Amino acid sequence: MRMSQDLAYAARLLLDAERIVVFTGAGISTESGIPDFRGTDGIWTKLSPEDFQLDRYMRDPKARIRAWQTRFPKMFGNAQPNAAHEAVVDLWKAGKLLGCVTQNIDGLHQAAGLPQELMAELHGNSDGIACLQCGKQYEPDAIEARWIDGDLDPHCDDCGGILKSTIVFFGEVLPRAELLRAEQWAHEADAVISIGSSLSVYPAAYIPLEIASRGEVFIIINNSPTDLDSLASLRLDGMAGTVFPQLVGAITAG
Ligand code: NAD
Repeated sequence: MRMSQDLAYAARLLLDAERIVVFTGAGISTESGIPDFRGTDGIWTKLSPEDFQLDRYMRDPKARIRAWQTRFPKMFGNAQPNAAHEAVVDLWKAGKLLGCVTQNIDGLHQAAGLPQELMAELHGNSDGIACLQCGKQYEPDAIEARWIDGDLDPHCDDCGGILKSTIVFFGEVLPRAELLRAEQWAHEADAVISIGSSLSVYPAAYIPLEIASRGEVFIIINNSPTDLDSLASLRLDGMAGTVFPQLVGAITAG
């Protein structure tokens, strides 16, 4: 009962919005079977965050070997987009989406049908592999073939530099073009909806923060408290795959 009243209120707040930024975190993909970082089944209960720190990765071959073990054979198994990813596409098709800023590296927004130019992947993605020294780009399949053949810490075949996935590690700068696109959208947006993010990771969380600070509508959809709850116009407590499609249905029906 309460949720449906909140949903109706959220839809009213968004009624006139035409340039909505959707900001997503790991929680939008848990219903696709990909664990988030900090939950009870989160990634940090199984892996060490230190192995994903850039300086550790560069100086410790064992950290690189462990990192490649998480990348191959297939980082996210056969995970498929869920109803929340599909609802982002519906919002775009209704002409109300300015862009989708994601902290996720799983590619599920694009797999649901969102065009790459509507994405700002602030933490990179798992599609690429590059040399940290000369920048040469590699096809993941080629490096995976070497890894299967026993090259557990692959290096650049041009310059001998360390190879790394294009996922942004701790201590690494965010991809410039993605950050600029997200900042541009943050200036132009007339509303922001955060889905499945603890809103605790910076600089990513500056994007919804900036839109909210301009006094625009800020809706949070999450199943636990977030760091920016006090700034939200409204918080919808619940599962992304249920709540967000209902909200998009309500916005696009009106
Ligand atoms: P986070 O783990 O800090 O927060 C996720 C939030 O989503 C939590 O508050 C959790 O309670 C909530 N949540 C989980 N499942 C939910 C659901 N079904 N519906 C609603 N809420 C749900 O993740 P974050 O805010 O994205 O920030 C941390 C980092 O996580 C980012 O740097 C990102 O790169 C990384 N990450 C990405 C993936 C992915 O690509 N799928 C997976 C794990 C971590």
